Amino acid sequence: MNTLKKLKVLGESAKYDLCNYVDPNFETYASGKIPGVYNSTSPNGHCMPLFKVLMTNKCSNDCKYCINSKSSKLERYEFTPEELSNLFLEYFNRKYVEGLFLSSGISDDIDPSMEKQIEVARILRDYGYDGYIHLKILPGTSYDLIKRAMSLANRVSVNIEAATHDGFEELTSTKNYKIDIIRRMKWINRLSKKDPSLAPSGQTTQFIVGASNESDEEILKMTHELHNKFEIKRSYFSAFNPIENTPLQDHEMPHPKRTTRLYQADFLLNSYGFSFDELIFDERGNIETEIDPKYSFAINNKELFPLEINEASYEELIKVPGIGRVSANRIITLRKRRKYIEKLEELKQLGVAIKRAEPFIKLNKSYQATLNF
Ligand code: SF4
Repeated sequence: MNTLKKLKVLGESAKYDLCNYVDPNFETYASGKIPGVYNSTSPNGHCMPLFKVLMTNKCSNDCKYCINSKSSKLERYEFTPEELSNLFLEYFNRKYVEGLFLSSGISDDIDPSMEKQIEVARILRDYGYDGYIHLKILPGTSYDLIKRAMSLANRVSVNIEAATHDGFEELTSTKNYKIDIIRRMKWINRLSKKDPSLAPSGQTTQFIVGASNESDEEILKMTHELHNKFEIKRSYFSAFNPIENTPLQDHEMPHPKRTTRLYQADFLLNSYGFSFDELIFDERGNIETEIDPKYSFAINNKELFPLEINEASYEELIKVPGIGRVSANRIITLRKRRKYIEKLEELKQLGVAIKRAEPFIKLNKSYQATLNF
């Protein structure tokens, strides 16, 4: 079998697995020029081209949104671990990529399929490759194999796909939500706590947004819980995309801004210290798509604003639209050196997005703009 042909199919199939925030308006694949190369953002924020590919598109599961599900009529391909590791090293040595993101369908039983991915990582580590490897943990993988995968990978992930047991059951009949997914996440977390050298960049997960009838409220409740309980570093939101010849081919696509708003709300919850009750949902449990969730919070809590910049705490400052964590820290630092910040221009230099922030702040008791709530 021609390796390039396999690479084109299995690299293309891997695009549904996210390992960074994907702006729907931005082409993240390297324009298809080099199959399998994907521009990603590393855990430390560095932009990193990854070799992103499936080990195989054979699969015994029946996920209704997935082109590789067992009922799909398509040509099936599979790399051997030796083939895939050689291909990766060729890309790496030519400086096409800086890391590997490896996922797979389930061609045999679960563990033998997972072993093939682990074998790729083992070959690379034995060769002396010490760069970034992200391994997808297949649903239902045994404890010992998860531990082995974590000993070789920088990061691992189990795709949760849905926020609720019922939502998950709408999507597949061959995987068990509590056992194959949640229990595996728990094991990963437990292993990481016991030995922090295992998968030191932690675990992530992915939701398919819009494939089942789950609300944003249900999705965010779950991401928050996963973050708190299992220290999930990042939840990725993959917008459901109906694929021809799958059971969900006629299912409606989600609103184009839905995943962006979910990322923003998730960020507020898990990085900005917002409580779940501070997020604003409509009567169906969804976030407003036309305005961002922080702005929505501000206009729904007008009694908190305008906020005096010279007196506000860090926690209050980061609730202001247009003030992020970096600019809030800079404001606090500057206030320690000087008594007052007096001009909008100074805030601008500290990184505040003035147009957004103006209606919500006061400087030395003066209103900066009026907001018509
Ligand atoms: S487990 Fe589900 S999502 Fe993954 S390849 Fe198989 S059918 Fe597709």
